[in-house]
Amino acid sequence: MSHAPSKLNAFPVFVRVEGAVAAIVGNGEEALAKARLIGQSSAVLRIIADDAEPGLLTFIAQSGAVHIEAAYDGVHLEGAVMVFAATGTEALDRRVVADARLLRIPVNAVDRPELCDFFTPALVNRAPVAIAIGTEGAGPVLAQMLRGRIDRMLSPSLGALAALAASFRGAAEKLLPKGNARRRFWNDFFAGAPARAVEAGQLSQAHDAAVDLLLSNAPALGHIALVGAGPGAEDLLTLRAHRLLMEADVIVYDALVPEAVVAMGRRDAERLAVGKRKGCHSKSQAEINALLVELGREGKRVVRLKSGDPLVFGRAGEEMAVLRDAGIAYEVVPGVTAAFAAAADFELPLTLRGVSSSMVFTTGHDLKGNSLPDWAKLAISGATVAVYMGRSVAAEVAGRLIEAGLSPDTAVAVVENASLRNRRRFHGTLADLPSLEARVDLTGPVMTIIGDAVAGANFERSEPLAAHKHEGASIAATEGVQP
Ligand code: SAH
Repeated sequence: MSHAPSKLNAFPVFVRVEGAVAAIVGNGEEALAKARLIGQSSAVLRIIADDAEPGLLTFIAQSGAVHIEAAYDGVHLEGAVMVFAATGTEALDRRVVADARLLRIPVNAVDRPELCDFFTPALVNRAPVAIAIGTEGAGPVLAQMLRGRIDRMLSPSLGALAALAASFRGAAEKLLPKGNARRRFWNDFFAGAPARAVEAGQLSQAHDAAVDLLLSNAPALGHIALVGAGPGAEDLLTLRAHRLLMEADVIVYDALVPEAVVAMGRRDAERLAVGKRKGCHSKSQAEINALLVELGREGKRVVRLKSGDPLVFGRAGEEMAVLRDAGIAYEVVPGVTAAFAAAADFELPLTLRGVSSSMVFTTGHDLKGNSLPDWAKLAISGATVAVYMGRSVAAEVAGRLIEAGLSPDTAVAVVENASLRNRRRFHGTLADLPSLEARVDLTGPVMTIIGDAVAGANFERSEPLAAHKHEGASIAATEGVQP
């Protein structure tokens, strides 16, 4: 079997409707659905409904559609450029179809494909950009699914960007020779500074950026997006992160960033692993900073992927500072931080009415000195504490908190590989926490959450931490053995 596409029996076209009449015959839901769809255009809606249902009446009132409140008659269709038979009654729909054909007006009959001259698509509307999805009436559910997927892929500001582009078309044609120069302008327009400004809602900056692009032959300036890749599961990536990945020239990523997320990048994007992971040759922070500046100066669109949220223990502060100093544009795209993923895996309310109303993100690496850091005091006053990179300092964290007055019975939840299929959950108390340090079987990233709110979690799928309390180095051998 060859995979040559079969022929379409319905060919998509875009019909000019500005100021033209679209006639819809019907009183109920079918008519309303069509009115809503065509109402997304600047066509004049003429709704022939002698006994319109309340929903349709409301629509007519709000949309300013012309309402012909009379029993249907063929003359009602006169002058229309398209007709919809949406009466819900086959005999009447057939009459409408026959009348339309006499008048040579293309007609669509709702749910009666055999009577249709044309079909209406599922529509992704970013006017003036429209994406129409058709299945020749075979699968409205499929069409709606595709519509949803495409809708999520496209920036909500695409329409505004296209409108801005239209306003620059004449100037671009006048000032730029046809061919490469013009193509480069439009590429930079849709993927560079003008697009980013529109995305940020800054229309006048977008206009200025487009003028700059048009008047200068200078190569486009680079741009770095510091993007949160989420905790590990690829579908916890934000839609914005996904879009930027698909536009990137270069993807610079850390060790904890899942391969599947990096793989979502544009196919010919350059991928640079700079991760700090044992065994991999990794770069120092200073080298990473220098690399970002260099890529920016080369005019590259860079996605700097960091696990979780880029602004949480991600050293983004240093990267942003060097980019600012170098005058390279950047933006930050938030991600789902590990603490949130771990809490979700445990169904753990991070704030709990009457129990905990504040939350601390810490590493526990600041407990070395003599004085108690502020967060420890917060923990004692009831905050929920999320400890990042806390495995190697688990005993220190537990010891110091208990010493400071937090009850050894305070609930603790630990998640290894939060959000991933191979996640493991452990529950226990502050007194059990030190055992974490000896757990050589935990090879993935580990999140520890401490506080009374943890008691609100779901412990059905977690193992007790205490099971491994005194087992030291033999843990690996006894993995999975219950007490
Ligand atoms: N910017 C990241 C944190 C980087 S620090 C974020 O916002 O999540 C790295 C630490 O994050 C790890 O030592 C671990 O404590 C935690 N972490 C990251 N991913 C995790 C995961 N999937 N499960 C549990 N902890 C995770």
